[in-house]
Amino acid sequence: MKAEIITVGTEILLGDILNTNCRYLSRELAAMGIEMYYQITVGDNEERLLKTLEESLNRSDIVICTGGLGPTEDDMTKEVCAKYFGYELELHKPSLDAMLERFKHMNRVPTKNNEKQAYFPKEAYILKNDNGTAPGCIMEKDNKMIVVLPGPPKEMQPMFENYVKPYLSKLTDDVIESEVLRIIGVGESKVENDILDIIDSQTNPTIATYAKGYECTLRITAKAKSVEEAKELIKPMSDEMKRRFGQSLYATGETSIEEVVAKMLVENNLKIAVAESCTGGMVSASLINYPGISSVFMEGCVTYSNEAKMKSLGVKKETLDVYGAVSAECAKEMASGVAARYNTNVGIATTGIAGPGGGTDEKPVGLVYFGIYINGKVISKKYVFNGDRQGVRERATRTILNDLRL
Ligand code: ATP
Ligand code: MG
Repeated sequence: MKAEIITVGTEILLGDILNTNCRYLSRELAAMGIEMYYQITVGDNEERLLKTLEESLNRSDIVICTGGLGPTEDDMTKEVCAKYFGYELELHKPSLDAMLERFKHMNRVPTKNNEKQAYFPKEAYILKNDNGTAPGCIMEKDNKMIVVLPGPPKEMQPMFENYVKPYLSKLTDDVIESEVLRIIGVGESKVENDILDIIDSQTNPTIATYAKGYECTLRITAKAKSVEEAKELIKPMSDEMKRRFGQSLYATGETSIEEVVAKMLVENNLKIAVAESCTGGMVSASLINYPGISSVFMEGCVTYSNEAKMKSLGVKKETLDVYGAVSAECAKEMASGVAARYNTNVGIATTGIAGPGGGTDEKPVGLVYFGIYINGKVISKKYVFNGDRQGVRERATRTILNDLRL
């Protein structure tokens, strides 16, 4: 099967938004063994969209459109697709009911034009939107298929994963299974380099690397006649990755380093307190993202000034005078100090130079010290992170959480 993607939106053409829908869909379709022929972006314009659809469906079997499902006049993707097949739109009552229910839940009143989002051709297969008001749909005629999806990635991706993928995989006898492996602390190019031999010889299963939020994920995908068979194909490659990446491979499946660490703290009932300078609350915020953390998370302090480090954490003036705030000594005193405030098992601290200014030869931008106190013992760790201010702070946050795991 050959496919094309049409992303609809003048915003994309003008460069106001990055076309991440296209990237997501291309990867997903490729992983399903569907061949990608063209990726096209058109503005919100009926005539050009119609013409594009015509060209695409002359070449390919499936066209996936995203964007233009909103309630306003310039949102017309669904209408144009229906027109292409010669289908009439009519009210789809279950979609209208779901929309009204959603508005009621949000304590809002729908406007008249919201109703437009519940109109579909009777021939269409409706794709529920679990994260927004506009359902998507699949329209088919003469062995040609158009999949119409909403623009916002938060709505589009789950809709694709939960409803489109199963629909498309029914078209073939094969099932597609994948496993995601999560790696931290190793750059994407190094990860790729370490598995080049496998990438070069892959057939089934296939393996792909993605960098995401300072982490790297590996996705192993297998095609087989049954889920069990696909899993059997995946297992040896997955085991090989675990062997190659060792400790850096911190989890499989949908999770994050913050979740893995937060779970570990909760399961072992390790009470924690956090003192942050350069990360300014990001470490605390990451841990607090985990819903069960309240049983162990005691306090997070943002002690940015020297004064606060002394006053709130008991860092010695002498330490700051002799070694400075960005030092192993200060990081250790911060960690022990914050743990002492609530007598926790664990105290962690960050202090560093996030930049862009403030770096010296001796203490460059990106230099970050961690203090890690665990049950009476305190150590420090030194890193120099790349990136802009936000990048340094995010890397520091992920890294200290990972260090806590090890
Ligand atoms: P809405 O109901 O919000 O109007 P829509 O289905 O009509 O949704 P658009 O109006 O085209 O979709 O886009 C809405 C928002 O979705 C955009 O402002 C943008 O943030 C995001 N978006 C749209 N298309 C893409 C894309 N190709 N890649 C990434 N984000 C996109
Ligand atoms: Mg819109």
